[in-house]
Amino acid sequence: MAAAAVAEGFWGAVGNTPLIRLAGPSAATGCEILGKAEFMNPGGSVKDRAALGILQDAVMRGQLVPGEPGTVVEGTAGNTGIGLALAANARGWRSVIVVPETQSREKLDFLRMIGADLRLVAPKPLSDPGHYVNASRRIAEEMAAAGERVIWANQFGNLANRQAHRDTTGPEIWEQTGGRIDAFTCSCGTGGTLAGVGLALKAQNPAVRIVLADPAGSGLYSWVKTGEMKAEGSSITEGIGQSSKVPGNLEGAPIDDAVRIEDPEALELCFELLLKEGLSIGGSAALNVAAAIRVAKAMGPGHVIVTILCDGGARYQSKLFNPSFLRERGLPVPVWLA
Ligand code: PMP
Repeated sequence: MAAAAVAEGFWGAVGNTPLIRLAGPSAATGCEILGKAEFMNPGGSVKDRAALGILQDAVMRGQLVPGEPGTVVEGTAGNTGIGLALAANARGWRSVIVVPETQSREKLDFLRMIGADLRLVAPKPLSDPGHYVNASRRIAEEMAAAGERVIWANQFGNLANRQAHRDTTGPEIWEQTGGRIDAFTCSCGTGGTLAGVGLALKAQNPAVRIVLADPAGSGLYSWVKTGEMKAEGSSITEGIGQSSKVPGNLEGAPIDDAVRIEDPEALELCFELLLKEGLSIGGSAALNVAAAIRVAKAMGPGHVIVTILCDGGARYQSKLFNPSFLRERGLPVPVWLA
């Protein structure tokens, strides 16, 4: 997939991200560990792809019309909202973005900065009507009932999410590795990335191992291993893990195995990649790299393992790079900030 010389606005600039060889993790395992630099998308995360896919689908269905009034409503940990709000701006639509107030200040500030109508909600279980996903659906329904042209993006259930990764992220990885890929590992929020990339890679070569990476506090690891969701512990990573329900986008994904990564392991890698390789990544990306290293060690030297660098470290300055936040939780602190 050759990158076009000139991209047409936000909609044309999503995707075609570099695949970066991670020197430390590769040397430590004797494998090639490659990270797809999704933090280089125009909205700063892998979720730009899902946001664009969902809006392209809505346009195709006639639910939104470029240049005519319309509103996109979504519940999100932040990144999908950022992608949706920017993509909506570029077509003259409004965005209403519902986010749990526990998400990083940087993501919330950025959503306000880019003109999203930000609605903060208290963190609640999915079964509670106040959960951010339920709250966003209700807002969209109320606006539709009032006669407004509106879509509820529904990233968890809307399969345009994983289709975007099946059409773009997966084929890009296949092309960039020249088909030399033994395993793909990534964590799940909606599961769109893992399912879409997994389906695309398996269609090329069914022997590519697809491995789910899961943080503490999520039940997806036990779901893959035993068929039952059992969530234990907690994580400071954002946007990944599910405690009670397998999202529609993850259902039927071709998953071969799962690994569970604790925060200290991910954080050490996050700091090491920043200081030694100049790569500033967020917590889910670091967790993904930790999982790729585990998979590489299990497979043995000489394999190629690809993972996703979901977003950048600047989005979590107040948390992952804040010594007092980390110390309070007994987590490792970046030595140069201590
Ligand atoms: N990492 C981050 C930082 C995210 O915001 C998200 C999405 N919530 C993910 C990973 C997970 O991506 P997906 O929804 O495709 O599973």
